Amino acid sequence: MRTLACACFVGLVGLACGCAAKSTKPDTAGKIRCLDNLQAVALVLRTSIPTEPDYPLTLTDTSNTNASLFVCPSTGHKPGDMASVEEWSDYIYVGNLLDVAQDPKVALLICPPENHDGKYGYVVWLTREVAQLSAPDIRRLIMTPWCFATNAPADQIERLKKRVSVRIPRRLRAVFSNAYGSPKLNR
Ligand SMILES: [Zn+2]
Repeated sequence: MRTLACACFVGLVGLACGCAAKSTKPDTAGKIRCLDNLQAVALVLRTSIPTEPDYPLTLTDTSNTNASLFVCPSTGHKPGDMASVEEWSDYIYVGNLLDVAQDPKVALLICPPENHDGKYGYVVWLTREVAQLSAPDIRRLIMTPWCFATNAPADQIERLKKRVSVRIPRRLRAVFSNAYGSPKLNR
């Protein structure tokens, strides 16, 4: 009986320790991170057209969203009106993608190095995973959003080439005039 009580006690202590360990989070309280915003925007984009295999053509095709998500916390910029989000956002959106990519490395959303002291940027892949990449790699993705998609079938790449439009915010248009399929408006 004593052994059983002892075992129970040890078990309870173990359980308590396990719970305590699980509730310990990195100290990011109160600090909004760029990659959290990027992931949230990617989710908004995907859920805005839930039954279609395509992502929206433009960021303005999303509705009822929190404008502050479209600002990189590193820039200190203020969010504007959602109707003109593609003008003021800090993020570059690869519009009109098909959500059927067989290669995970197709860029969906990009925070360019201009928002991070020119050192690095972030990409949200079509899988909605976020990666930090070097400035040259981010620039390659803006020119060709599937440039790292080495496993994608050729016909899938051909489909993307025909439909994708990279949406560059106004203040970055001079820097990324070579963005893939970028609308030549408001320059
Ligand atoms: Zn950022």
